[in-house]
Amino acid sequence: MPGTSTSSPGISKPARSAQVVHGFRAENEFSDLQFKLTHQLQSTLDVHSTLEMFFNNIRGTIKLDGLLFELEDNEQFNIGKKANHRAQYNIKGQRAALGTLTFFRKKHFLEGELAALEMFVSILFYPLRNALLYREALASSLRDGLTGIGNRKAMDMALTREIKLAHRHKQSLCLLFIDIDHFKQVNDLYGHRAGDRLLQHSANCIQSALRDTDQIFRYGGEEFVVLLNNTDIKAARLIAERIRLNVAMTPLTVDKQELSATISLGVATLESKDDGESLLKRSDSALYIAKNSGRNKVICLGLKAAPEQDIQTG
Ligand code: GH3
Ligand code: MG
Ligand code: MG
Repeated sequence: MPGTSTSSPGISKPARSAQVVHGFRAENEFSDLQFKLTHQLQSTLDVHSTLEMFFNNIRGTIKLDGLLFELEDNEQFNIGKKANHRAQYNIKGQRAALGTLTFFRKKHFLEGELAALEMFVSILFYPLRNALLYREALASSLRDGLTGIGNRKAMDMALTREIKLAHRHKQSLCLLFIDIDHFKQVNDLYGHRAGDRLLQHSANCIQSALRDTDQIFRYGGEEFVVLLNNTDIKAARLIAERIRLNVAMTPLTVDKQELSATISLGVATLESKDDGESLLKRSDSALYIAKNSGRNKVICLGLKAAPEQDIQTG
């Protein structure tokens, strides 16, 4: 019968003083673990830490090799290693599904172990739900409500992080400061709703010209910032040019009217003495030059070959 022997595969040997009932530790030892687990899981709101804490606690009772938690949007959290045998639980709340939790191990799971896992999963439910809610709240506090891209706060955090990394690993970092040309006229001629649509559209056009590792933020109003890590100024200029063309060549239709926007871009590269403020300031100066020399332009500060510095649309 599964789960009746103390040496059953997957069940760790009980401590010498522990009483063993049907292959598991005695009832009170289980309640101790339940209590400890419930208490410990309250100490974090981070999803990965919650799962790690859960895994480390229960694997003292049920031998496990790994755990995988998959969210509805396919994001995954992995702890330990995958193995042939698995026990899977769809975790659902009253309103929505939280995700799928899969336990892995080399040997098959016994019935008694599955019952115990189910009980442990029920303890995990509220801490995991709280961690996911906290994560969502944190993410939305860093997202711009209109365009869905990172907001100014997210940009400040990313800029500090990327500058630290670039300085530490002696890698290049470029910042693009982007501003929609004559945007006020769009609001004045077509109304604020059309202006809002154009902002969303421009954010999409910029994003679709970027690589996976690049980061885009709404700086404010009709201004955007793009961070290009591990990218030198020459490559940054090409990317900026690709973005400029993508916006210029992708019109937007609002209420059967076609709106064409152009953008101006200022590009600067990180120097050894730079912090976020000085890098932003230089790319803003480049943007200022782009605006004053006709708009719909890319201006790079830090490119040695002066004649190639600005590229104008045909
Ligand atoms: P320039 O080419 O010199 O950049 O001219 P501009 O008209 O784009 O710049 P200006 O700073 O004169 O105008 C920016 C406008 O953007 C003014 C403001 O009302 C508008 N704006 C800022 N945020 C939003 C928003 O969220 N939605 C809409 N519809 N308009 C916004
Ligand atoms: Mg502006
Ligand atoms: Mg503008």
